[in-house]
Amino acid sequence: MENKEIMLSVQDLKKYFNTPTGVLHAVDGVSFDIPKGTTLGVVGESGCGKSTLGRTVLHLHKMTSGKIMFNGKDISNINKQEFHELRKEMQIIFQDPFSSIDPRMSVKQLIAEPLKIFKLAKSKEEIDKKVSEVMDIVGLAPRLADSYAHELDGGRRQRIGIGRAIILDPSFIVCDEPVSALDVSIQAQILNLMQDLQKDRNLTYIFITHNLSVVKHISDDIMVMYLGCAVEKATSKELFQHQYHPYTKALISAIPRVNLDDKSKRIPIKGELVSPIDPKDQCRFAPRCEYATDVCFGSTPKLEEVEPGHFVACHRVRELNNL
Ligand code: SF4
Repeated sequence: MENKEIMLSVQDLKKYFNTPTGVLHAVDGVSFDIPKGTTLGVVGESGCGKSTLGRTVLHLHKMTSGKIMFNGKDISNINKQEFHELRKEMQIIFQDPFSSIDPRMSVKQLIAEPLKIFKLAKSKEEIDKKVSEVMDIVGLAPRLADSYAHELDGGRRQRIGIGRAIILDPSFIVCDEPVSALDVSIQAQILNLMQDLQKDRNLTYIFITHNLSVVKHISDDIMVMYLGCAVEKATSKELFQHQYHPYTKALISAIPRVNLDDKSKRIPIKGELVSPIDPKDQCRFAPRCEYATDVCFGSTPKLEEVEPGHFVACHRVRELNNL
């Protein structure tokens, strides 16, 4: 990848929650950089910490420790007022826009709401003009302006969510499972819309999903998470050609294939995700990994660069992959 300016740099980010049974390590020392105008896909099973990661970056959760640099500025410990200003630049698109919006508001009111919160329009005419422009950009017909979200299908509701996110002209968006609740045909339309917006506006995305096939085309880089930790990180192209972590291999083997000549087998992942409460100092995948030996239960593996730009956290990565 050419040397692009970094939009978001996250270093050793931790987000812990106190629970009645112990400390839940939702995000446990995750680091990454996202160049401007590119997408980092964050993938993993439900409960791996990927949504908490996105929300902590946006200060929707207060971080436990770590450092977040946005556009060259350290925003790790900024106060609420400072972050309110920054929210114009940093937006989020949710999985189910219906759960995050007021059902009594019409489409045009919903899309206009962020403009009003941030007092970014001087008159009703200016709001109406901006809302019409955004509806056009996200593919909502003018006749839907006075409709309510419950009258619309999932794809149109997600277009409202995207309209609300882009109306403030942000430079960075956390997309939290934005197509997971949609039919496959609608998923493709929404992904195309998001890619077009990225190209037109030089947007930077974190794209969170449990579905690797969804991030394949939209992501420049992919980070695979397991129980709060990053276990593999590479460019999207590289990750789909070579996977070195046993968990990533299993995830990729589970993607449905259309090529009947492809005889590669699905690798089953045994057992359930173990609890992220007070985790032991060991590989978190060890209880489910068919290659686990004593060394895997002795300490937590760190991400190491095994090929240029390709990082893996596995004690046995070199011997298992002949690297
Ligand atoms: Fe499996 Fe051990 Fe590697 Fe963990 S460190 S993924 S248990 S081989």
